[in-house]
Amino acid sequence: SQILRRVIRSHYTAPSFLRRLSTTTPITATLFPGDGIGPEIADSVKQIFKTAQIPIEWEEHYVGTEVDPRTQSFLTWESLESVRRNKVGLKGPMATPIGKGHRSLNLTLRKELNLYANVRPCFSLPGYKTRYDGVDLVTIRENTEGEYSGLEHQVVRGVVESIKIITRQASLRVAEHAFQYAKAHGRERVSAIHKANIMQKTDGLFLKCCREVAEKYPEIKYEEVVIDNCCMMLVKNPALFDVLVMPNLYGDIISDLCAGLIGGLGLTPSCNIGEGGIALAEAVHGSAPDIAGKNMANPTALLLSAVTMLRHLELNEKADQIQNAVMNTIAEGKYRTVDLGGKSSTSDFTQAICDHL
Ligand code: NAD
Repeated sequence: SQILRRVIRSHYTAPSFLRRLSTTTPITATLFPGDGIGPEIADSVKQIFKTAQIPIEWEEHYVGTEVDPRTQSFLTWESLESVRRNKVGLKGPMATPIGKGHRSLNLTLRKELNLYANVRPCFSLPGYKTRYDGVDLVTIRENTEGEYSGLEHQVVRGVVESIKIITRQASLRVAEHAFQYAKAHGRERVSAIHKANIMQKTDGLFLKCCREVAEKYPEIKYEEVVIDNCCMMLVKNPALFDVLVMPNLYGDIISDLCAGLIGGLGLTPSCNIGEGGIALAEAVHGSAPDIAGKNMANPTALLLSAVTMLRHLELNEKADQIQNAVMNTIAEGKYRTVDLGGKSSTSDFTQAICDHL
């Protein structure tokens, strides 16, 4: 559909070095299959890409078995170098132990590769009914700081401290990305989501930066919405929003809320935009340990993330082919995974998508 194409099609302006590519030149992309359901859904993407004859060669990297001192995490230095070299990649979910352990894998990737904006389109799938019709919004999450700065320590026994960092530089950069995105995609409004009434210094600075950037884009409406009110408005009427930009933690939470509006985490793609033209696509969801290894996972979110990667590479025909195949499979209703109320296994659903290519 028009809406769908508008939402998914190139949120990303391809860097000039990519514009030379033709649909037959093989392109190397980094693939992190990840943890839990990651390898199953990554296999699904690989099978569909192969059937559709997408000219991508995957350079696969698995999470290491011991901490690499150069990354201070289980992610190997070589895998980060692979993304830096290839500039495009697809990432499966990576599990993070709660409360203790090594540096978060996702955090390491975001920091080391300077993935400053996480773009999460959220749109109703034609033929898949939820309580909301015509959802069409995009959350843009600051991806490198806020409460996720990784600065936590015990002050004295029984008292711990987590430091929320907000910088002018990162706030301006993500706000700029949000307005550029809105402009490039014919979107009318950017809403900055905050809690500056309580977090006066940190969210206050974030808002100040958003306002500064908004002044450069008079053609785009700008508003500020307190996060709790934003949640209520989203659940009441998602059509009230267009592009939402926010600090890290709020983006993490709000984008899952948005996933719920359209049918769940199995459906929502995202793309991390980094400095130097890096695009690392990944599903919004985590490693789903409750269904890992059971051939039950829905590969749609990772597949649609891979589609955003193809659009970044300006392989739009191939991207349309895959996107239409997955949409038609879901709309037809014969093959749907359990999270969408169906009975299909990951592999049967994958085969059905291949048959629709
Ligand atoms: P989760 O997203 O893994 O799972 C939440 C629920 O959604 C579960 O019931 C799961 O079965 C379901 N679900 C998720 N993806 C699905 C899919 N593709 N198909 C069908 N059902 C799906 O969240 P969680 O359980 O809070 O986190 C598990 C692990 O994943 C944690 O270690 C967490 O840190 C990690 N995580 C990683 C990322 C990432 O790599 N970007 C994101 C979120 C969570």
